[in-house]
Amino acid sequence: MPRLSSLALARATLDRATERRRDPEWVKQRWADPRARVLVLVDGKAPVTDDGTALVYASPADLDETGKQPDECYFLGLEDDGTPYFVVSIPERADVGVDSGDATRAGLREAGGTLSDRDAGVFVHAMALINWHAAHPCCSRCGTPTLSTDGGHVRRCPSCGAQHFPRTDPAIIVLVTDDADRCLLGRQPSWPVGRFSTLAGFVEPGEPLEHAVAREVHEETGIDVVDPEYAGSQPWPFPSSLMLGFFARATSTQIKVDEEEIAEAMWLSREDLRAKVDSGELLLPGAVSIARRLIETWYGAELPGSW
Ligand SMILES: [Zn+2]
Repeated sequence: MPRLSSLALARATLDRATERRRDPEWVKQRWADPRARVLVLVDGKAPVTDDGTALVYASPADLDETGKQPDECYFLGLEDDGTPYFVVSIPERADVGVDSGDATRAGLREAGGTLSDRDAGVFVHAMALINWHAAHPCCSRCGTPTLSTDGGHVRRCPSCGAQHFPRTDPAIIVLVTDDADRCLLGRQPSWPVGRFSTLAGFVEPGEPLEHAVAREVHEETGIDVVDPEYAGSQPWPFPSSLMLGFFARATSTQIKVDEEEIAEAMWLSREDLRAKVDSGELLLPGAVSIARRLIETWYGAELPGSW
């Protein structure tokens, strides 16, 4: 199977400037750059242009007349010409006087597929960072509230000195095929009838990816797989996953679902899949998901319809 390319949420173009952002003075100067652009997220939604191809950025002056950088404002990177990008997150739009004009607000799932490479990358990085800060305000060693440093890519404990780094949770996602080249799709119990996707699950501590693929497929469907083949990855910051895509070959076909993570699973030939998608009986995952791309890569073409 070919590698997945141009995944919707894996198109970042900014230079993260990881060495330079450690210097708070350097970050301050980037904030003071008149070209600086700030993505203002409100409850995880970003202002986007009507055609959905670009984010609408604020300037630092829009956030604070004094030009002071807010404490929880994070540096995302530099464009080729040196234009700096930042993100701030606010719970309620009305609480601060940030005006993004008539731009509509959209979540990453909706906008991730249509944004430019640069803006898709900015939105993904912003969401991952914002979600981590929101969930990790205190030191996990001593409980003291921590402070953001390194442009928001580290939180430091003022009491015990511990440094805490943004967390990413690896998860495998796999398209399994059998000897007849049928694919295995499953439905989670919480999903409506007809909604199917590839199998997925979190990697456990101390576990290689290949073992996680075999374990998750077996736990969820009773199917044994071999030869997991890496297909590509993309961040999935809902809230903090990194999806690692695989293809794998089944050595058994008798399905026995666990009913906890998967309520229903089935083998589908390309003809079966197409007929069920066309009739609306089967709904495939959204365009920004790696699951969708795994299915379409196996199928050999784009498919219509999604949830
Ligand atoms: Zn501490």
